[in-house]
Amino acid sequence: MARFPYTAEVTPTIFEKSSAGRTGTVVPEGDVDTPGVEELIPAAHLRASPPRLPEIPENEVVRHYTQLSLKNHHVDRALYPLGSCTMKYNPKVNEATARTAGFVGLHPFMPQAGAQGALELMYDLTVWLAEIAGMEAVTLQPAAGAQGEMTGVLLMRSYHESRGDGETRTKVLFPDSAHGTNPATAAMAGFDAVELPSDAAGRVDIEALREALDDGVAGMMLTNPNTLGKFESDIIEICDLVHEAGGLMYMDGANLNALMGVARPGDMGYDIVHFNLHKTMSTPHGGGGPGSGPVAVKSHLAPFLPVPRVVRNDDGSFGLEWDRPESFGKLHGFYGNFGVMVRAWTYMRMLGRQGIRGTAEASVLNNAYLTSLLETHYELPFGRGMHESVFSASEIKKRTGVKTMDIAKRLLDFGFHAPTVYFPLNVPEALMTEPTETETKESLERYAEACIAIANEAESDPERVTTAPHDTPLRRLDEGRAARELDLRWTFESED
Ligand SMILES: *Cc1c(COP(=O)(O)O)cnc(C)c1O
Repeated sequence: MARFPYTAEVTPTIFEKSSAGRTGTVVPEGDVDTPGVEELIPAAHLRASPPRLPEIPENEVVRHYTQLSLKNHHVDRALYPLGSCTMKYNPKVNEATARTAGFVGLHPFMPQAGAQGALELMYDLTVWLAEIAGMEAVTLQPAAGAQGEMTGVLLMRSYHESRGDGETRTKVLFPDSAHGTNPATAAMAGFDAVELPSDAAGRVDIEALREALDDGVAGMMLTNPNTLGKFESDIIEICDLVHEAGGLMYMDGANLNALMGVARPGDMGYDIVHFNLHKTMSTPHGGGGPGSGPVAVKSHLAPFLPVPRVVRNDDGSFGLEWDRPESFGKLHGFYGNFGVMVRAWTYMRMLGRQGIRGTAEASVLNNAYLTSLLETHYELPFGRGMHESVFSASEIKKRTGVKTMDIAKRLLDFGFHAPTVYFPLNVPEALMTEPTETETKESLERYAEACIAIANEAESDPERVTTAPHDTPLRRLDEGRAARELDLRWTFESED
């Protein structure tokens, strides 16, 4: 199998590559008299010594970052099957539009008359997202899916308060397959997060739901398809039951890639849904950079959405509406992460109506094909999912001692990122695999070949797997320590 090798040698930091006096550009001497910096800036505001910036020629800067990029795994290198995260390829045209001078240079305090293009783009995006959601109103402010969830539960609170039930509706329900952000968000907003068991097919257990419903329920958060990739086929009944009890239905829309253009959350009975533009709408994510988690709602919740709302005025111009007395307030600085919105707008515009539906269909088809290649080698406790399937290494572990984490690490040697591991929590030794629509048949086959080779290796040479990775620049890292002692800053020797 052809592999894309990682560069194995240790790359020094850019500070270590610095050599005094080397520069990337040479600026010609000026031929006019200019005042010295001391005359322009009062001495009290000047630093005592120059900043210690690396001094390095331009080509070496480019090589440095190219080398670093090859030490890591990313979607421009090979398939990235991190389930539920929808690591699809990010079309480069999105970057071109996001860098349009008029957008990049726009100041957030620009008067609305001077920002009509940006406002129109935001307005368009809300209209398209509302259509995909099957709902009436959208806020673009949340910076991520998790902040969309926070918006959703704050909307639940505002809604119940407006009806006089704010004090008594204290519970938010979620199934045991839910992403950790669902209960965490409900708890952070002051609700009691109540977990419901899934049934044998991995879907919401309707009887358990009936028992949990009473007039203390504010609402339910339910991903669809859920994190096992299963469509909640009782969704209409679930929404009816929650509504009869006076609660609201929140859809965690992280898995919308399986549905968009095909089925609408609003038609299923949901009241609120968040989008992860950085997942479904192809804007880069995974490195901790900016995201965007717009929230769509049915009209009965629109008055409570955060301010400002992007609106179209009667004369056809676009503006920001602040005068919304029932709004729960402001959620994000200015208007949200605008650059991500431009990328998502471009992505949707390039796909068009047919393409958006085609994306969902192809993501399900790709997963069906990949699952068919893998299901005789890995257990699939709940069966094939829509756009993602959750395999388990539990039998492999019993037989050979090889764990899910070992398989994940070994995949790096084959030039692939691992699937999501140990999630959802209701599958032991879980490997949650989402290929996305942007992979070719050949790329899916290469990935399957690697997974099958590892399953065989677990039987014939388990130590090769349990000691992986072997071919990466660094071997197994102490992930616990890396998460607890985050220390990414370069320190000069003369500093402490
Ligand atoms: C990614 C994800 C979230 C959280 O979204 P962020 O944009 O990462 O905050 C919530 N639920 C599910 C199912 C997810 O996959």
